[in-house]
Amino acid sequence: MSTFTVVNPATAEPVTDVELATVEDADAAIARAHEAFPSWAAVAPGERATLLRRFAAVVDAHVEELAEIEVRNAGHTWGNATWEAGNVRDCLNYYSAAPERLFGRQIPVPGGIDVTFREPLGVVGVIVPWNFPMPIMAWGMAPALAAGNTVVLKPAELTPLTAMRIAELALEAGIPEGVLTVVPGAGSVVGERFVTHPLVRKVCFTGSTAVGKRVMAGCAEQVKRCTLELGGKSANVVFADADLAAAAAAAPYAVFDNAGQDCCARSRILVERSAYEEFLSLLEPAVKAMAVLDPSDRRSEMGPLISQRQKDVVTGYVDEVDVAFTGPAPDGPGFWVPPTVVLADSTEQRIWREEVFGPVVAVLPFEDEADAVAMANDTDYGLSGSIFTRDLGRALRVARGVQAGNLSVNSHSAVRYWTPFGGFKQSGLGRELGPDAPDAFTEEKNVFIAH
Ligand code: NAD
Repeated sequence: MSTFTVVNPATAEPVTDVELATVEDADAAIARAHEAFPSWAAVAPGERATLLRRFAAVVDAHVEELAEIEVRNAGHTWGNATWEAGNVRDCLNYYSAAPERLFGRQIPVPGGIDVTFREPLGVVGVIVPWNFPMPIMAWGMAPALAAGNTVVLKPAELTPLTAMRIAELALEAGIPEGVLTVVPGAGSVVGERFVTHPLVRKVCFTGSTAVGKRVMAGCAEQVKRCTLELGGKSANVVFADADLAAAAAAAPYAVFDNAGQDCCARSRILVERSAYEEFLSLLEPAVKAMAVLDPSDRRSEMGPLISQRQKDVVTGYVDEVDVAFTGPAPDGPGFWVPPTVVLADSTEQRIWREEVFGPVVAVLPFEDEADAVAMANDTDYGLSGSIFTRDLGRALRVARGVQAGNLSVNSHSAVRYWTPFGGFKQSGLGRELGPDAPDAFTEEKNVFIAH
């Protein structure tokens, strides 16, 4: 068995070594989850609800501990990390209501009655990226468990620590052995095995579009269900009639939060030409004022990137273009890149088209509403986006016109666990969260009973 050294991104110092699972380990975890499935599926709805609420309560009692682990492992700011641990608790609580509400339908038919059931799938494999280890774990795990499935979950190689701890907390809360198993390992080993193993009945993948396509192709071999949450290049569209001061004050947080390592990052800012200069003059002080500090400092608003490799990727993009202005960043060790604003020359530039996944935003002017929508949609992605305007009709027209799964008007709302989340186009397939998420972890069965 090989090991992986987890590194603190803020200091580049090693944190701990984690053993990486082999294919045999993954097979054993899947076999245990398969064995645990019938009894978990048979737990009475109210009892399953109670267990999930107990799991949420145990997570709640460990929010600070989980946040501390995430600050060290992922370089997330203290504020973000505590929100993320709280999000695990909230998802568990929200979906704890689902077992008692997994409704079927009664459909009128001649000669008898017809009813539908929501049957759990069996073992669900959840594959998590490194950028939001705790929330993305919860978004797959909580509705899958609520619907009566057992879960094997692979955290990203770089950020396994919170997932491993949450699995311990599940046992402490009384979730039976084998119902939730965290399998730290390489994507090419454990992740691939979730895709190829016939007893894994659904793969819930969040990560890059390139790997997501591979996962989908692999799942096709067995007509395995899959949900894909992939990359993004989301637009923040600012009209001249907007509250420009508010739009400029909010824009940095919409792209530089989590150091830009956010699939929903509004990494393209489109500004109506007549407001372009004024918007930039308001944006600059907002970017310069960002508190880019060691993430364990409670005042920190932005931390480091996850790894030297990610820093090299991001600086590779920045080196190709002229930087308009940057915010601050600490000197010294750690994978720091300052918040960076680029005035794009054309929509053909890599910085405008590709997901940088770092604290870099590109800005371009647009002419009118039709131009704004066309530019926003000129991308293979379609995950999220924002619209700033005081004109309600325009806000609705543009929100309906932008091909993306999650839009916000006069705000950059974060993902809410009780509303659906997912991407159009190459940003994904299927939806997570919201009231319907447990359905996506079931098969609908139709039963006719003759009179
Ligand atoms: P990644 O695709 O490299 O890895 C994601 C996960 O897949 C990791 O756990 C990895 O080990 C695993 N993996 C790698 N190769 C695999 C394979 N062949 N088979 C199965 N699993 C494999 O992505 P990343 O770099 O960890 O994360 C960043 C990407 O995730 C960005 O593109 C970002 O936009 C995307 N993302 C999307 C969402 C969303 O909800 N849409 C949320 C967060 C991140």
